Amino acid sequence: MSEGIEFLQERKSVVVMGLTDLIYAGSNAVAGLTEGAVKDAIEKYGEDHKVGFPDTAYFLPIIYAATGVKIKKLGDLPAAVDILKSLITNKADLGEALNAGLATAVGAEIIEAIRYLDGDPYANDPGIGFVPDPIIRSLGVPLVTGDIPGIAVLLGESADQESLKVIVKDYQEKGLLTFMVGNIIEQAMETGVKIGLEYRVIPLGHEVTSVIHVVSVAIRAALIFGAIEPGKLGDFLTYTKERVPAFVNTFGPLDEVVVSVGAGAIALGFPVIADVEVPEVPGALMTQADHAKTVETSLEARNIKIKVSSKIDVPVAVASAFEGERVRKDTMFAEFGGNKTSAWELVTTADAADIEDHKITIVGPDIDDPMFAGKDVVRLPLGVKIEVAGKAMQKDFETVLERRIHYFMNYIEGAMHVGQRNIAWIRLTKEAYEKGFRLKHIGEVLYSKMRGDFEKVVDKCQITIYTKAEDVDRILEEEVKPIYAARDERMGALTDESVDEFYTCLLCQSFAPSHVCIVTPERLGLCGAVSWLDAKATKELDPLGPNQPVVKGKALDERLGIWESVNETVAAASQGAVKKVTLYSILEDPMTSCGCFECICGIMPEANGVVIVNREHPDVSPVGMTFGELASMTGGGVQTPGFMGHGRFLIGSKKFMSAEGGLPRIVWMPKALKDDVAERLNKAVFEMTGIENFADMVCDETIADDSEGVLEYLEKVGHPALAMDPIM
Ligand code: SF4
Ligand code: ZN
Repeated sequence: MSEGIEFLQERKSVVVMGLTDLIYAGSNAVAGLTEGAVKDAIEKYGEDHKVGFPDTAYFLPIIYAATGVKIKKLGDLPAAVDILKSLITNKADLGEALNAGLATAVGAEIIEAIRYLDGDPYANDPGIGFVPDPIIRSLGVPLVTGDIPGIAVLLGESADQESLKVIVKDYQEKGLLTFMVGNIIEQAMETGVKIGLEYRVIPLGHEVTSVIHVVSVAIRAALIFGAIEPGKLGDFLTYTKERVPAFVNTFGPLDEVVVSVGAGAIALGFPVIADVEVPEVPGALMTQADHAKTVETSLEARNIKIKVSSKIDVPVAVASAFEGERVRKDTMFAEFGGNKTSAWELVTTADAADIEDHKITIVGPDIDDPMFAGKDVVRLPLGVKIEVAGKAMQKDFETVLERRIHYFMNYIEGAMHVGQRNIAWIRLTKEAYEKGFRLKHIGEVLYSKMRGDFEKVVDKCQITIYTKAEDVDRILEEEVKPIYAARDERMGALTDESVDEFYTCLLCQSFAPSHVCIVTPERLGLCGAVSWLDAKATKELDPLGPNQPVVKGKALDERLGIWESVNETVAAASQGAVKKVTLYSILEDPMTSCGCFECICGIMPEANGVVIVNREHPDVSPVGMTFGELASMTGGGVQTPGFMGHGRFLIGSKKFMSAEGGLPRIVWMPKALKDDVAERLNKAVFEMTGIENFADMVCDETIADDSEGVLEYLEKVGHPALAMDPIM
């Protein structure tokens, strides 16, 4: 049968059969497939064979959420299949039919889990399949800040490749996270759209069942951030509808399985926009045959607002979706810093009279200078000096603006920025160069972003970029380093005792409604993205925004870090869910976690201390749990004594669980994390105890990752935790 006839027949079938019939046809088909797959798997592997997805603490997450049942082995599956079948009533009622859509989701989850029995079924597929917990946690902050304004799920095969490309690129430039299922993956790849997690365009897989991996993301968001109780399916559906800004675009003809998957999406509150004729359900299922309008229709249907920033006049795209892009050696055109040349960046306040707004000056050769002709890579030293002026600008905000340089540069398609200050490292791609990108465009992007994002404090902004070694080095020594040093001194003197106000951060409440971060000079927000100075600056930029001052007053308990004002604020901001928090204890009323924390700290009783695991570490820690498993012990705004989510920077703060003895309690960390924090950690512990090079006493996975091995090492190095009061 020709594709055209098949297309017409299926199209006709959608219109003729009626929506509920189609959904049931799809659900029943999936139910049958699921039952068969479970039977085959049990025959092949036996009932006791383990089943599950990689790197999650939530078993088969959809079944766990819907029923509270923890599927661990194949023998647990037949009961789940029975539940699935009970959801398919075949009654001609749309609500009941949507339940059948959920049954399809459960079936697809089981089928996918069975596919994982033989190893990663996505190993030779451009799709990534199951999305591990740590990735979901890492998406928390960009989602709450609106940096990722929504989630698009694209499914099927487009009749027109070019318009598909335009849609995907449009979502990408708007910052959305796009998941793709089906042949559109290859179609998009063929058109040259940049694909991968780092570009926010994520291929899931070819089989329609792989769409379940995005449903699983939404459901686990509710488990991780919302602390919704497993088994309360209704609460999950409310959570995804209200808090997960996702929608579905289908491409090409729909068969009944896709329709029943769509019904599942609608049950979760995600509207479905098809490019073929479908029976419309207002607000939930609609047709948009014109691909030029797909994006607009979809955003409207899900009520997603895109922050419009004025178009920046540069030859490449500038969008938050490009933030994670890496520039590798083979695609690199130019490189600055990274130990090969010196590179620094500085934001400093100037008198308004001394600077000219939007003046961008390049002092020295640009990357297209004839002297680079025939060179493999253009290497230049780089000094980026941004001078700002404004009535509401405060010296303290300089670091806040300066740290944004990292993000702004990474937004440039074809640029990678690593580090900060005078350890900055920047790479540009050949592609960007060929499109005409030059150094002045870096200036343009930084200018637009500084003015746009900080409009309340920056009235004027002037940028000078130096590329001659003698300038870069001289200005660094004479002008820049003294400013860094003065700031460090100010930061060092900035303690919880030295200020009158702490700040709340309520950003994560859009996902974790009862979570409140209290941000102090010595305790940054647990996502690592909000320091006390950031919070203070945000209050200035957005007076009614997520960061509000908490006037300290007198402490009720200085050791534990209890303030009446903090308790009152937390109680009010959490709608009474949390009444008391301590700022310095992990055991008594510890601060809550939302879910997007950089690190998780947990007690290791036999070592009389704590282990810390960062999100990037994939393996099991000496307390027998991975990051994801440890993280699942807390989160969603719940207090769990003994577990605490926190930012990396807290490892080096003298207030880190100081009520229980503080930093010297740390007995184990992954090596990469330890190396990252060692300098500050060593300095702080030395000042607290006189112990030198404390980081060397902290065990890591290259030494031991089991309880016995860790204890042996701690004894050997004479770790201070062993001699401290019992932690519990
Ligand atoms: Fe979320 Fe806390 Fe970070 Fe604010 S500081 S964004 S509430 S984790
Ligand atoms: Zn958070």
